[in-house]
Amino acid sequence: MNIILLGAPGAGKGTQATKISDAYALPHISTGDIFRENIKNQTEIGLLAKSFIDKGQLVPDEVTCKIVEERIGRADCQNGYMLDGFPRTIAQAEALDAITKIDLVINIDVDFSLLMDRLCGRRVCKDCGESYHVSRLGGATTCSRCGGELYQRKDDNPETVQSRLDVYNAQTAPLIEYYEKKGLLFNVVGNTTPEDVYAKVAAKLDSLK
Ligand code: ADP
Ligand code: ZN
Repeated sequence: MNIILLGAPGAGKGTQATKISDAYALPHISTGDIFRENIKNQTEIGLLAKSFIDKGQLVPDEVTCKIVEERIGRADCQNGYMLDGFPRTIAQAEALDAITKIDLVINIDVDFSLLMDRLCGRRVCKDCGESYHVSRLGGATTCSRCGGELYQRKDDNPETVQSRLDVYNAQTAPLIEYYEKKGLLFNVVGNTTPEDVYAKVAAKLDSLK
């Protein structure tokens, strides 16, 4: 099964992706994670991506599409995969359609007013990628899942978050209609708890098996 996770920044794509990937044995492909890894390793792609990511803008489609095409061509994706954060533009979706067949698009729909706080309060484990909200950490600075150190992403500040939300509205939100027209869209309300959202997603995935 080839799945796409769609949703605004802060909708909870990453959190759901970890759960789905574990339960359904699907490789989790996050373009954001791939870029952050490249930035850490100071690769050419990393240097380029950083200049866009730091401003809350999208990395150019040619670069992003090439990375995804290479990644889903690897052996571990032969029996399915889950894309998180890709596609983010209509052009990316069209490029994807040209190389693969998507079975389901899960759109996590969250009230826009919640996103700024979710993102600015987010802390991420540097080892396993798990996300937390600072209001629920009670001062803890390490990951309860793996013990890794928590950090705040550089693009999780009010100014950059605002531009990411604007970019989402202008460039990514049109994908909802794009996939709806293809009959692939599954909408789930993401305002509740991660467990509740996951239960709905799992019920849908089980119905497709
Ligand atoms: P979030 O969904 O929380 O905004 P991501 O980790 O998915 O975070 O992405 C972080 C940044 O990486 C984006 O703001 C963007 O600059 C870049 N990026 C990630 N995926 C894509 C993509 N498919 N196309 C272009 N840029 C992307
Ligand atoms: Zn961790």
